[in-house]
Amino acid sequence: MRVKHFTILSILIAGVFLFSFKKTKQLKSTKNLLKTEYLVVFVMDGPRYTETFGDTSYQYIPNMGKKLKKEGVLYTEFFNNGVTHTNPGHTAITTGVYQKLKNNGTQLPKNPSFFQYYLKEKKADKNTCWIISSKGKLHVLANTKNSEWNNQYTPNKFCGPDGNDKDYVGDAYTNEKINEIYFKNHPKLCLINMLGVDVNGHEKNWEGYKRCLKEIDQYIYQFWQKIQQDPILKNKTALWITNDHGRHLDGHKDGFISHGDKCLGCRKISLLALGPDHSKGKIITKERELIDISKTISVLFQFSMPTSKGKFMEELFSTN
Ligand SMILES: [Zn+2]
Ligand SMILES: [Zn+2]
Repeated sequence: MRVKHFTILSILIAGVFLFSFKKTKQLKSTKNLLKTEYLVVFVMDGPRYTETFGDTSYQYIPNMGKKLKKEGVLYTEFFNNGVTHTNPGHTAITTGVYQKLKNNGTQLPKNPSFFQYYLKEKKADKNTCWIISSKGKLHVLANTKNSEWNNQYTPNKFCGPDGNDKDYVGDAYTNEKINEIYFKNHPKLCLINMLGVDVNGHEKNWEGYKRCLKEIDQYIYQFWQKIQQDPILKNKTALWITNDHGRHLDGHKDGFISHGDKCLGCRKISLLALGPDHSKGKIITKERELIDISKTISVLFQFSMPTSKGKFMEELFSTN
């Protein structure tokens, strides 16, 4: 009986392995040679889809909506299908697993992140991976509770004011740190968080919420332009712009002020992917979700990430 189970298990494992291999091969053959060598996941903390790509006047995100959208691939059916708070939303991105994680920065995720898998398998220097965050509590993204991985293969981080791993700091400060840290170190994998939109939402400040959306739109646009002016990063860097969660729909609970449940406003987010291996001006309506980001990064950078429950977003690399 045991032997039979073992055989079935082996076949299953081999099948999964072959499937991933086929996908990777497919990915290689699609573009012959992939050009992406650097990747940044830029997280705009907590805007609603109705104020970002769901508003086709793009009044609050004119740079992304009118300029960057034409340069990349936009997913219009992209979701956080787990807990719609900051820390669990971000760890869904980095670990590829939805987990009910404390939102205050005192609990590490159960599973290792794509940073840790990358650093281990590539035997890469810590400096090739960076987390830069306005929210100090996002230091949890750099580590895991998993005893085989805890405190090992951890990326570099600068989270919160002076990198203190606890407090919050304005996005203008984080933007300066991006310029200092990112363009000095040229990390292969980087995650950036900016908080202004979320904080103004919680403060019931509708004007501030909209103003911060416009600001982050500007920061992201400038960041992309600066990447294109950098001789090392130019034409080799992918920038994936997404969110950790949305916020309640109008008329549901307190509307834009809060988030955290499974209403469409909280779950529906977006992904705009720019980079040398992505089509320009392509809209994808296929449903995808936050956990798929980690799996797709692992295929793109060719390392294994067995604990990620996400799927490889192969359409992100097709030329049609
Ligand atoms: Zn929030
Ligand atoms: Zn909600």
